[in-house]
Amino acid sequence: MTRGVFAQRTFTMSKTYTTQGIILRRRDYHENDRLFYIYTKELGKIEFLAKGTKKITSKLNSSLEPFYLVNLMIAKGKIFDKLANVNVVKSYENIRSDKDLVGFFLINYLGEILDNLIVGQTPQNKKYDLLLELLDILNDEIGRSRENKKEFFLMLANIYALKVLNLLGYRPEIQRCLVCHKAILLTKNIFDFSRGGVICEDCKKVCLIEDYIKVSDRVIKILQLAETKDLKNFLDMKIGPAEIDEFNKVIQRLLLVNMEKPLKSQEFYKIAP
Ligand SMILES: [Zn+2]
Repeated sequence: MTRGVFAQRTFTMSKTYTTQGIILRRRDYHENDRLFYIYTKELGKIEFLAKGTKKITSKLNSSLEPFYLVNLMIAKGKIFDKLANVNVVKSYENIRSDKDLVGFFLINYLGEILDNLIVGQTPQNKKYDLLLELLDILNDEIGRSRENKKEFFLMLANIYALKVLNLLGYRPEIQRCLVCHKAILLTKNIFDFSRGGVICEDCKKVCLIEDYIKVSDRVIKILQLAETKDLKNFLDMKIGPAEIDEFNKVIQRLLLVNMEKPLKSQEFYKIAP
C-alpha cells in the first residue's frame, strides 16, 4: 500500500497505517509538539502526535490546518500514535477565505459538533460522506451573494447536524406526536427538548412540559425534509428568514441536550438559549 511520498519512508507496515480524514482540532502538547484530532471514515475519531508542530518553523503545519482533508501515514506508538507523513487532498480554500467570516465560523462550529458527538473508533461511512458533501457545497456556494448568508449556511450545517444525530440514534420524533402518537397535523405544535420531539396542541394542554419552544408548521416541514432530502436540495428552497432562525434555534437546543458541553462557536450568532 506504500506509494507516492509515503514510499520514501522507512516504516514497516506492521507499525504504521494510512488513512484519510478531516482535521477537527489540535492542542499543544509539551514544549514543541501538538496533538491532532482527525475525523476518518474507517476509524472514527483518531488522535496523533505531530512532533515539532508547535514551532512556527515546522514544515508540517502548512498541511495540518483545521478542516483540511488529508492523507495520513501514522506510526503506532506506546502512548501516542505519531504522524509519519501527511499530504493535503483538499483545503476548501473558499470556505477558509470567506471575507464575511461565515466560513471560518462554520469550520469551528462543525469541528465542535463532531468532536463532541463522535466518540470512539467506529466506522463512520454515511456521516463522513455527508460531511464531505457539505464541505463541497459550502466551498462552492459560500462566495456567492445570498440574503441572510450567515443564517442560511448555519441552517445547512444544522441540517447536517440533524442527520448526524439521526445516524447516531438520537433521532427526534417529528412525524408523530410524542405523547398520543398521532401523525402531526400541521397546527399549533411545540418541540419538547426533554422528550426529544414534537407534541401536538391537545397533548400540550394536559402534559407538564418545561423545556420547549413553539414550532411553526413550516419549520416542522423543514425538520421533516431535513431527514429525507439531500443537503443540496435546500440550496434553492424558498425558506424565509424567520423560519431559518426558528429552525436553527431548534437544532442548536437539540444539540445542547445531546452534548456534554455547550458550543463555544455558537456565540458568533448570539442565539438566545
Ligand atoms: Zn398528541
